Amino acid sequence: MSNHPILQSFIAGQWLGQQAKQSLLSPITGEVIYTTHSDVIDFGQSIDFAKTKGRKSMLAMDFQTRASCLRDLGKYILEHKESLYEISALTGATRADSWVDIEGGAGTLFAYASMGRRELPSGNLIHEGDAIPLGRDGHFYGSHILVPRHGVAVHINAFNFPIWGMLEKFAANFIAGMPCIVKPATSTSFLTEACVRLMQQSGFLPEGSLQLVIGRTGDLLDRLDGQDIVTFTGSAATAAKLRVTPNLINNSVPFNAEADSLNCAILAPDVSVDSPEFDLFVKEVAREMTAKAGQKCTAIRRVLVPENHIEAVSERLIARLAKVTVGDPRINDVRMGALASHDQQRDVLEQLDTLLKTSSTLCGGTDSFELVGTGTDKGAFCQPTLLLSNDPDAEGGAHDIEAFGPISTLMAYKDLDHAVLLAARGKGSLVSTLVTKDPSVAAVVVPELAVWHGRVHILDEQAAKESTGHGSPLPMLKHGGPGRAGGGEELGGIRGVTHYMQRAAIQGSPTMLGAVTKEFVRGGATIETEVHPFRRYFENLQIGESLVTHRRTVTEADIVNFGCLSGDHFYMHFDDIAARESQFEQRIAHGYFVLSAAAGLFVSPGEGPVLANYGLDNLRFITPVPIGTTIRARLTCKRKIDQGKVSPKGEPQGVVVWDVQVTNQDDELVASYDILTLVKKQSN
Ligand code: NDP
Repeated sequence: MSNHPILQSFIAGQWLGQQAKQSLLSPITGEVIYTTHSDVIDFGQSIDFAKTKGRKSMLAMDFQTRASCLRDLGKYILEHKESLYEISALTGATRADSWVDIEGGAGTLFAYASMGRRELPSGNLIHEGDAIPLGRDGHFYGSHILVPRHGVAVHINAFNFPIWGMLEKFAANFIAGMPCIVKPATSTSFLTEACVRLMQQSGFLPEGSLQLVIGRTGDLLDRLDGQDIVTFTGSAATAAKLRVTPNLINNSVPFNAEADSLNCAILAPDVSVDSPEFDLFVKEVAREMTAKAGQKCTAIRRVLVPENHIEAVSERLIARLAKVTVGDPRINDVRMGALASHDQQRDVLEQLDTLLKTSSTLCGGTDSFELVGTGTDKGAFCQPTLLLSNDPDAEGGAHDIEAFGPISTLMAYKDLDHAVLLAARGKGSLVSTLVTKDPSVAAVVVPELAVWHGRVHILDEQAAKESTGHGSPLPMLKHGGPGRAGGGEELGGIRGVTHYMQRAAIQGSPTMLGAVTKEFVRGGATIETEVHPFRRYFENLQIGESLVTHRRTVTEADIVNFGCLSGDHFYMHFDDIAARESQFEQRIAHGYFVLSAAAGLFVSPGEGPVLANYGLDNLRFITPVPIGTTIRARLTCKRKIDQGKVSPKGEPQGVVVWDVQVTNQDDELVASYDILTLVKKQSN
């Protein structure tokens, strides 16, 4: 029997693992801290559980309720974060490193919760874009829908962010309505296990929505089918191997990879040594080298600097790095902890050896260094190491070798074209930073960088006040890069959710498309009753419920009154000669008058369930409205979203989007838009 806690997998709703297998060593002291389990996982049962129980419990919810559930999970994790911080320190991470992993992970849940609530409909189907008329008379339309895939998402994760790495993927597949099986990297899987235990204990996790694999994936990938999806974060070598698993290829299982990345930072030639941007550059590079002991897929590996600034940059960087105390991350003064494992340390030192064939050491390197803390001499530490490339144009070196630790290589460039060329030599990266004071430099360089980098961070004095930094992927921005970086895409707002959904084109009559999308499509069947739609509570309103208003003839007095009221005396409304010479050949009414007049036509003025009008989307003024035009409006309930919200006065309410068409006496469309309202519910 092992004396160390045995990590357990969470499979088919049960914690599994009684027999010890592989010992996991503390990267701080080299002592055994956990063991994995040898109990065999039945992956057939696991997949089946995800696809039956998991799918059922998740689709019993909808985008909105799953978003609320993510928020609750995030809150629960934060309430219990100290227990995670304690375990996180055992991975070699400082408190600041752990913050990114733990609170960054919970923050990603919150971000997806709020994006989901704001941007997704009720139900489990996304209607993508407006329906497109495919016939001449509006009887046949086409559009796109997205539905949750019927499979399971298998996430194979890296060792460096055991919590964030799981949650950034889980947030997206969860909102989409797809269950997942998470396989963390073994060396730090104890932290992922602790987080999954918390999530399960919270009571918020729908049954089967999340399973955890400690150890290897056995025959899991061989059992997947075309509805499943695999995401991978780790080394390019493993990505290349797993990507070509015959079963994944035969069944066209999507494989999203996020792999090694030789990210760079460029100091533009316009930045002088005494400018604030120069300091920002040095600070950013030093921070990226030492945060998480350089074990970040986004860390700056290549530091591109104009030839004339190499000396100044290296001096300042060396001075900064000299202040970084390395040791046991649980000790307050320690700024940089250990690498995640002894294997990782071996790997990093080997890569450093290879890098030294094409570069020289400016600071750090393989010499012994001071460590803080008891027992740390047996730990997996590496000191901050700055190298100088002997020949940045030569093959190999830092353009090819990733030392996944606190190691970066300084490279001298001649001019900006040369810098852009060198940046591309990384063959595709997750992120690059450009530090410049000059917007015209950014305008030229950024599009060039964008071809090779998943994200481009432009840093100047203004941005620095709030910059989230080179190395931080954000939930609302795409994470993933081309080529060597894996060619994958994660996050990026709701785009990240749609990766777990299947897109289909649909065609049919507007009535049929409306029924499928639960969204009124113009030309589709409408429901007209004696009751004004504004007088109906949220629950009672039906999609397609519509009102055609009485008419109103626009007069010169309307234009004059509106001009005086608004102060808008634009020549097109008031200068008869100029208006006659214009493309409209006559004076026309203000577009905003038409909008206001339409509201006057369709609003039901008495107190009712409509609580507020909070905006307007897709406004177009289509046909001009000259004096004498007779307009009318059609108001139709287009979409309903139940976000489970209550008004400040405690009244439960939902969002109703109304389609508005304003037409003239010839039935031509004059103005077209959606109005957004909050409508009271009759009950909770
Ligand atoms: P690996 O590619 O070896 O491992 C990544 C994940 O894949 C781990 O969960 C690992 O599990 C799993 N894995 C490995 N082989 C298989 C397999 N045959 N079948 C199923 N799963 C498998 O990367 P490492 O974690 O060892 O890191 C190595 C290097 O990868 C680093 O030095 C660094 O260069 C790069 N890296 C890149 C990251 C990025 O975000 N882009 C993040 C971390 C590392 P297990 O742990 O059980 O082996």
